Amino acid sequence: MSHDRPSGEVVLPSVDPRPRFDVDAIRAEFPALHQEVNGKPLTYLDNAASSMKPRAVLDAMAAFYERDYSNVHRGVHTLSQRATTAYEEARQDLATFLSTTPDEVVFTRGTTEGLNLVANAWGRTFLRPGDEVVLSRMEHHSNIVPWQMACQATGATLVVLEIDDHGQIAAGEIESKITARTKVVSTSHVSNALGTVNDIPRLAAAAHAVGALMVVDGAQGVPHGPVDPRALGADFYAFSGHKMFGPTGIGVLWGRRERLAAMPPWQGGGDMIRSVSFEQTTYADGPARFEAGTPAIGEAIGLGAAARWLMSKDLAGIAAHEDALLAYGHARLAEVPGLRMIGTAPNKKAVLGFVVDGVHPHDLGTLLDMEGVAVRVGHHCAEPVMRRFGVPATTRASLALYSTPTEIDRLVAALHKALSILS
Ligand code: PLP
Repeated sequence: MSHDRPSGEVVLPSVDPRPRFDVDAIRAEFPALHQEVNGKPLTYLDNAASSMKPRAVLDAMAAFYERDYSNVHRGVHTLSQRATTAYEEARQDLATFLSTTPDEVVFTRGTTEGLNLVANAWGRTFLRPGDEVVLSRMEHHSNIVPWQMACQATGATLVVLEIDDHGQIAAGEIESKITARTKVVSTSHVSNALGTVNDIPRLAAAAHAVGALMVVDGAQGVPHGPVDPRALGADFYAFSGHKMFGPTGIGVLWGRRERLAAMPPWQGGGDMIRSVSFEQTTYADGPARFEAGTPAIGEAIGLGAAARWLMSKDLAGIAAHEDALLAYGHARLAEVPGLRMIGTAPNKKAVLGFVVDGVHPHDLGTLLDMEGVAVRVGHHCAEPVMRRFGVPATTRASLALYSTPTEIDRLVAALHKALSILS
């Protein structure tokens, strides 16, 4: 179709050929979003802590528990075979989500367990006194403490990449701190406290140039769409299901197959062995080596459904929607008197962290809840970040693909109301 102007000039209509991202249609798939809290419509802005679940995930889990439930891998009976098939199909779904094959997908309990697995199985085996493990100041505690423990056990040392006032790795840190002594670089893909997107390809190139391993905490990376950890340059990439619209109690550790093959098991037990005797045990290959005991079967199936669900969406539309909303959030929050944003990196995602002069975040969080607005207050398991910015805690509103400008408006209105009460 074209429109002719009186002058005869033909003006093509501005039709975007990409499918339009319809946030209302997305929201309709999330039952939990449609409720009132304290007499107000729920404004759920705590997505970095955990996201809501679409009907597709709830249905997949219910169907498994209602019809196919049994233990996996060890049974010859029909239900066990169905459960095993569904569990392994979920692994395939996650492999597709990560642009890889199932032999690189280890199911874990979540990001924390994935990082502990690498720090224990790889770290305690290969780290030596004098070696260095490089982390950034913006890490979540689950990407600090396991490495600290591995360093204590092996005599290796932690080295910290400092961050600048915007909350991004400071200039010169990568060049000066990733050295011949470095054996591991482990950073978040996206910071949960600041929203900063780290330049993983650059960090990975620096790590690999000195023969070090690149480990990525992807907890806040995957909720925004599929990730290709190999293309990013990672050796390991850990994440949780519950932040990417899947259930709790399940996550993935992606590892390059040669890295997984070279790594001893961490936990011992059923399913991770080839044969056991009192004299000697041999271990299974591939992901099974790291999945001791009965896994979270229904949860893995739920996570597979979440990955399929996300992949079925307009990913470019989601990214554009979330980025526009983040910019809108920054602009609207700037109107609030005494409010200071914590985390202003040019490349950031989905996180609006702030403090307000003279107001404790916990008081703010409680008053926002009275308005139906769910945010997180505290140190967000990132105490070194709080110290860097000289604050004990922040208030954090975090977005997901179903967040809307109206919710930002409600947050800002609730903030004004809360501040009028507190000041
Ligand atoms: N890393 C980051 C960046 C996170 O945001 C979180 C959770 O908030 C974690 C790790 C830990 O995730 P989980 O508690 O699901 O293991």
